[in-house]
Amino acid sequence: MAEVGDSRPELDGTPAVPGSGRVLPASASPAGILLVEDQPELVRALQINLRARQYDVITARTGREALALAASHPPDAIILDLGLPDIDGTEVIVELRRWCKAPIIVLSGRTSPGDKIGALDVGADDYVTKPFAMAELLARLRAALRRDEGEPGHGEPRVATIGAWLVDLTAHQVTRAPGAGGEDAGPGGAGGTLRLTPTEWRILEILLLRPGQLVGSAQILTGVWGPGFQQRTNYLRFHMARLRRKLEPDPARPRWLVTEPGMGYRYQP
Ligand code: CA
Repeated sequence: MAEVGDSRPELDGTPAVPGSGRVLPASASPAGILLVEDQPELVRALQINLRARQYDVITARTGREALALAASHPPDAIILDLGLPDIDGTEVIVELRRWCKAPIIVLSGRTSPGDKIGALDVGADDYVTKPFAMAELLARLRAALRRDEGEPGHGEPRVATIGAWLVDLTAHQVTRAPGAGGEDAGPGGAGGTLRLTPTEWRILEILLLRPGQLVGSAQILTGVWGPGFQQRTNYLRFHMARLRRKLEPDPARPRWLVTEPGMGYRYQP
């Protein structure tokens, strides 16, 4: 897969069919993306790819320009570099979050967990490290816009698939997915159902209602155990391991309940 952001930007191989990969119905106005990046060749590659998918793109090269543009042309989502010529991208997030609710996807060469956690803590929604695959960034953007269309779960079926299992968040039932294989499809319970603990349900609900999105460990810990538990990542690791043993066909190499090291977890549909 083509990677961009380190040296020579390339376009990915996804065909630029109008409307393809978009979430909004054709009748809706195009989603506006504010792209904040100071590397001209990267701006160009991103512009081409985003416009090919019918997004409206406006670009800013500096943090101050980004703040001004976000105020004058409120975007539906923001893609933000952290290393900007004037103010740091983290500061841009802090300023934006005073009034702007649009999802922010950080696009940065900084790979340390500290930088990632810092950006997420001040209000970024996701973090993509350079060099990155264009297809992945576009998928994260779609997920961010989908989440922004409404609070999770509203009017959507609260059912998700993990491996051979169908997880029904409303009925609190895990059953074998139609067409799933027999005994080799996962460590199942008898009769094609699986029992989860209340804690496991709460963790799953937080993740499954945000398909494709990174959910920070602190957010999950607070959601499940309450305030004051943000540091107890060992609780989360313990329960995530149990969930994977129950649901993932290969718990050592999770495909659906993915760890984002140093940041949190993601339900990858
Ligand atoms: Ca930069």
